[in-house]
Amino acid sequence: MARIGFVGLGNMGGPMARNLLRAGHELAVFDLSAEAMAHVPGARQTGSAAEAARGAEFVLTMLPAGQHVREAWIGAGGMADACAGDAVLIDCSTIDVATSREVATASGRAMLDAPVSGGVMGAEAGTLTFMVGGPDAAFARAEPVLAAMGRTIVHCGASGAGQAAKACNNMLLAISMIGTCEAFVLAERLGLSHQALFDVASKSSGQCWALTTYCPVPGPVPGSPANRDYRPGFAAALMAKDVGLAQQAAGETGAQTPLGAQALALYQRFVGDGNGGVDFSGIIRMLRGSKTETDG
Ligand code: NAD
Repeated sequence: MARIGFVGLGNMGGPMARNLLRAGHELAVFDLSAEAMAHVPGARQTGSAAEAARGAEFVLTMLPAGQHVREAWIGAGGMADACAGDAVLIDCSTIDVATSREVATASGRAMLDAPVSGGVMGAEAGTLTFMVGGPDAAFARAEPVLAAMGRTIVHCGASGAGQAAKACNNMLLAISMIGTCEAFVLAERLGLSHQALFDVASKSSGQCWALTTYCPVPGPVPGSPANRDYRPGFAAALMAKDVGLAQQAAGETGAQTPLGAQALALYQRFVGDGNGGVDFSGIIRMLRGSKTETDG
């Protein structure tokens, strides 16, 4: 069993840390919030990120955004300097590819970017998907540790490749969700029932995850957030963040992603209208142009 430092014990990091403890690992933790640390009983609480990192074989972060990750790892008194020379550094936060690569290089250590999908439920259940970028040897050492928190672990390539995979996947998801919503809105105007569109499209070339697993209208897929007034699930604010990271990467690399840009604009408008905490499939209400039409 390994000695692990874990920094950032919020909605995702808390349950992930608890799963590491459950697997028998020894944990030193730090969060700016004492309450967050208290939610990981059995871990050794420390007074700083550097203290949590000291002496650990693996050091993980699960922080909100790129600036927090940069500051924690390579800022003044940062964790990278406190880590043992042979420690494996693992950032599980969702951040931009450029910052991820910058921090990995500046850390001067074996560092992996390992963002996740699966949300809070996946973090609780230990069924997350990890998308990992970084050196082969570090990945081989980290894989058993990640396996205590996830079910699918994919080594995507060199440093930054995990964040790249996350950005590309979530941009695709945002676009396909909006496309699925538009198809249902058009069906409503044409007098076609939700179920009829679902029965055809789920077996035809329009088939996609947003339709068959996460259907944005109530009825056809009973477990989807549409059936519980669009309670998340995956909050629209997080989707806007992720599509924003994809657009940042597109800008930096010169990739043409006009639908990604449009998806970002639509999710920003939806969040700006006060729907940040609504599931991202709830954007169908905005796309209808009124709340008066029924969800049914
Ligand atoms: P959160 O806001 O619940 O948790 C972040 C935690 O980091 C908080 O407890 C905060 O106190 C702590 N923190 C912030 N700065 C710190 C610092 N400098 N030192 C120590 N602790 C610090 O966020 P979350 O939902 O757990 O998300 C974390 C990351 O996971 C984000 O990058 C998010 O995009 C990504 N993510 C979230 C989900 C989700 O469904 N929530 C799904 C996939 C990926």
